[in-house]
Amino acid sequence: MACVLHADDCTAAVASREDKLQSLFRTQATAAAQSPERLELALAADLTEEMLQRFCAEAPFHIALGAGGDRKVWRRLAQLSVDINELALVGAASTCNVATLQVVYQHLLNQRCDVHCSIWWITGVALAKHGDTGLCFAWLAPQNSNVEDAAGTWPEWFCSVLCGTAASNGHLASLQFLLDRTRGQALFGRYAPLHATDVVEEDVGEDAADIIRETMGWIGDTDSQEHYKSLLDCAAEGGDVRMVQWLLQQGHSVTPITFEVAAHNGHLHLVKHLAAQGYACDANVLYNTTLVGGGIPPAQMEWLRGRGGGDWSQAGMTEALLKRLASDHADATYALAQWLLAQGAQWPESIRELTRRGAPMHHVVWALQHGCGSGEGGWTAEHCEEAERSCRGLRRALHELGCPCECEERVAIMASIGELHM
Ligand SMILES: [Zn+2]
Repeated sequence: MACVLHADDCTAAVASREDKLQSLFRTQATAAAQSPERLELALAADLTEEMLQRFCAEAPFHIALGAGGDRKVWRRLAQLSVDINELALVGAASTCNVATLQVVYQHLLNQRCDVHCSIWWITGVALAKHGDTGLCFAWLAPQNSNVEDAAGTWPEWFCSVLCGTAASNGHLASLQFLLDRTRGQALFGRYAPLHATDVVEEDVGEDAADIIRETMGWIGDTDSQEHYKSLLDCAAEGGDVRMVQWLLQQGHSVTPITFEVAAHNGHLHLVKHLAAQGYACDANVLYNTTLVGGGIPPAQMEWLRGRGGGDWSQAGMTEALLKRLASDHADATYALAQWLLAQGAQWPESIRELTRRGAPMHHVVWALQHGCGSGEGGWTAEHCEEAERSCRGLRRALHELGCPCECEERVAIMASIGELHM
């Protein structure tokens, strides 16, 4: 799972050198885990044993070791006193290859590493996420019989979480396998819709509750309630019209959050498709969720405007711009913010409007680079403190972009510039 920086990340990375270094180290570690040649190269360059020990404490390293599936790498690491751990199974699952899963599992057994039942659960989720169509699921199904406390059965929620994950990731063949009573449901237990009110953490345990929430949870932007997505909602999240159609044919229905989930993920084609079939949606609700969603095409805003959603006054658009930049959605790009600016949204008087809302650092930096100012009343050391509290490293980023306050950060930066020019 190598970390790939895109241009916007680079802006943030340059703004915060410390974060940049951490990201680059992580890239090296997972890249080094992929083949014996890469590992030797890294060792010959600057990968020290001490750094290896540090990486060893991080999940992505073990996941990468499993995905690589190369015993030579694991043996070489063993010489350096680094053992792979059970998370390697999750990495192996991402390849949907039985041989890789088996070789990782055998290696763990040889190391006398116990595989906890929650690891088998997330291994299953990884298979569903990456679209296994049955072979690896069949390999996985009997594994929990070796786990002491699992008693050979999969938990009641498991099949539903697998189905939901396959649907969210657009894997129709996986979903069809899992829903089949003689295949998926025979292996992992019955599929039944999950409801937020039915799953109680005290009953299922903390690990299970985390997995269920992560795969099926949905917080509505409008009602702020926690929902669990239905299978159709999961398909709407993935944006696959064919899968949505198939589920409708199987008797699944559109829920109160289906449109919201599709709009939040920028699937305008699906929103239009469902609306054309006569399902009702509230354009204002979709407008609100669109503003804080990911991968949003500006055409989606136009469509919502045409349906009467949103506030298109200048103040309304400015508020939309702020809401957009304050969102920390992982797939948020700047296309929508740029579009809002082009439509007449104005920057607020001070960048403080954004830091106050807890906007992610790279969004604050982007706003400063695209015309947002520090504000007439000035930006004081107190505001710098506040920004730093909301996001570590932000104070330094602000000062590198010319923040006018006289706090310690400015003094430190001026001193380092002075040194450069000496
Ligand atoms: Zn400052």
